[in-house]
Amino acid sequence: MFNRLSGKLSGVFDGLSKRGALSQEDVNEAMREIRLAMLDADVALPVVKEFVKKVQEKSVGQEVLHNISPGQAIAKIVNDALIDALGGSGAVPLALNAAPPIPYLMVGLQGSGKTTTSAKIAYFLNRRERKKILLASLDTYRPAAQLQLQQLANQIRVTALPIIEGQNPLQIAKRAIEIGRLEGYDIVILDTAGRLAIDDVLMQEVQNIRDAVQPVETLLVVDAMTGQDAVNTAKHFNEKVGITGVVMTRMDGDARGGAALSMRAITGAPIKLVGMGEKVDALQEFYPERVASRILG
Ligand code: GDP
Repeated sequence: MFNRLSGKLSGVFDGLSKRGALSQEDVNEAMREIRLAMLDADVALPVVKEFVKKVQEKSVGQEVLHNISPGQAIAKIVNDALIDALGGSGAVPLALNAAPPIPYLMVGLQGSGKTTTSAKIAYFLNRRERKKILLASLDTYRPAAQLQLQQLANQIRVTALPIIEGQNPLQIAKRAIEIGRLEGYDIVILDTAGRLAIDDVLMQEVQNIRDAVQPVETLLVVDAMTGQDAVNTAKHFNEKVGITGVVMTRMDGDARGGAALSMRAITGAPIKLVGMGEKVDALQEFYPERVASRILG
């Protein structure tokens, strides 16, 4: 992840640091290279434009041009702009302070890692925050989906809502919240059905469930490997359903990173967690400053 972007940016800063004092021309050339590096990393075009504009504005100041190491000064400006693009400093935690049972709605396309992530979040909140979690699959379309979540729940020793054949997603969601209330669960995680692509039926169904359960967290699960598509998916879900956070999966892969860098600007929602592998404990909080410093080596 981010290897190419990291390599290209360090090339830009190495070039600048060899020069000593910088001319306006050198700065312009560096901005051009940063722009290309971001585009190559699959960052959304409006985000690239805004990013370069911000870096450029700060880089033309006297303190950079006359700095004893202007390359480093620009690297610092880029570092700050990366942190901003990634959502600002500090991880944004999951909402834990609402009245229990707190409904979490998991949304996203099929194959994004939604079911795995639902189990990972259950595991994370159960082990780390000592929360009593109820997991419920609302996916009545894929025959094995409810069983898949139940197996994951067994594996991590968290309760899954018993399956009742013939119930529709809305009925399951209501039953999950009701049991969550009666049996004293802290958080009820509702894993909705995904589709291969965005469609109106999917969105309508998710909207109905949202209206019925009033989720405190609506977490969009997106696959980092899908680059620009992940950003478009996020834009759609946010417009139609409203999301409170993003979980980006497959951050352990060799995605170019553009989706992570575009998400905040495009949706306004923070990346809260990242999936780093297939195992249930492969979930991490997202710290923009750590990611930025990894990008800049
Ligand atoms: P869903 O259709 O969105 O519910 O997707 P699943 O949860 O069934 O996940 C699809 C596949 O992606 C499974 O094989 C998961 O093990 C895998 N997967 C999920 N998250 C990650 C991740 O963060 N990294 C990797 N490498 N694989 C993941």
